[in-house]
Amino acid sequence: MIIAVAKEIEVGERRVALIPETVARLVKKGLEVWVETGAGDRSFFPDEAYEAAGASIVADSATIWGEADILLKVGLPQEREDGRQEVDLLKEGAVLIAFLNPLGVPEIAQKLADKKVTAFAIELIPRSSRAQSMDALSSQASVAGYKSVLIAAAALPKYFPMLTTAAGTIAPAKVFIMGAGVAGLQAIATARRLGAVVEAFDIRPAVKEEVQSLGARFVEVQLNEETVAAGGYAKEISADAKQRTQEVVAEHIKQADVVITTAQVQGKKAPLLVTEEMVAQMKPGSVIVDLAAEQGGNCARTEPGKDVQWHGVTIIGTINLPSSMPIHASQLYSKNLATLVQYLVKDNALNLDFADDIIASACITHGGEIRNQRVRDALAATSATVGN
Ligand code: NAD
Repeated sequence: MIIAVAKEIEVGERRVALIPETVARLVKKGLEVWVETGAGDRSFFPDEAYEAAGASIVADSATIWGEADILLKVGLPQEREDGRQEVDLLKEGAVLIAFLNPLGVPEIAQKLADKKVTAFAIELIPRSSRAQSMDALSSQASVAGYKSVLIAAAALPKYFPMLTTAAGTIAPAKVFIMGAGVAGLQAIATARRLGAVVEAFDIRPAVKEEVQSLGARFVEVQLNEETVAAGGYAKEISADAKQRTQEVVAEHIKQADVVITTAQVQGKKAPLLVTEEMVAQMKPGSVIVDLAAEQGGNCARTEPGKDVQWHGVTIIGTINLPSSMPIHASQLYSKNLATLVQYLVKDNALNLDFADDIIASACITHGGEIRNQRVRDALAATSATVGN
């Protein structure tokens, strides 16, 4: 059974699916690992390190894709320079594991089904204790949360910590984190370590204790409605609840030097939390980092991939922050993938038990079928739009 690691060809993607340390562990377990030449270059893992770990280095990407029994990568399969889609190179029955964004780009699931590929969308691994070590959504969100604070600190024309100096006292920066999921909690911890005074808000009341345990103040809003959906994810809230939330958070945004927004509702456009009016009321020099930029943004003025100046406020629409820390992001992702691979492979053969909730949740295509109802629905919605 060949486990192959493809080089990411998407512009701006610097991570790699497996790092040499993990390769060594898989090889020790009797698995054959192939790594495409230069796959780890942009995350500072050279071919020699993979070779030393027991991998075979393969120069031809078509061989990597075409002969893999399990193909591991980070992001969505891309169109190659020769005009062929990477998916078309996979052999029938191959397994593909990556962030496949099946609800956002369901067409790829159709392609994978047509090729009779067994595809696992790593973002659909359930958020359960049992699956925790395969939870790449969390491992990568944690990197993004940490880095968002560093970016904010670099853009802020102020100190983060309180300083008492001979030239006077500097007040600590006020940081307001909106959305206290994995990324938000890591952002709180990082901002606290840098000495900021931190407040956080989330529509899920359950996070209050976690926020407080990190030394931040939890901003409470009484919503009088259910805000948590299946799996512990946030639900989209009613117009009334949105209004009430905005009234409360507006004051905290106005006082903040830095606002970091991380709010998401799974499978939906990100909720708008920071309106133009709120931005206009912030102090000149303040900074907003919008981690939901790619999902439509939590701030009305966010432009994905750009830093925007508006009313003296810098609004940073970051995309793919984990890729900006490719060594550790790859290390964590590699561990997530290797755990999943070992879960799927028994005695050097694929062992797919669809009664298992991890496999049932994450496997989106198998045997020519799209297995996931939400992906089928997303595809139907896309076809309907195209047909109109
Ligand atoms: P996410 O990235 O989907 O969203 C980020 C945060 O935004 C969430 O905390 C959400 O409640 C919040 N949010 C959504 N709409 C909002 C709004 N209008 N205003 C303010 N905040 C809003 O979240 P995530 O970090 O992926 O976590 C999603 C769920 O998965 C959580 O319940 C989390 O506890 C759970 N989880 C479980 C595990 C595990 O058990 N292994 C691991 C990670 C996360």
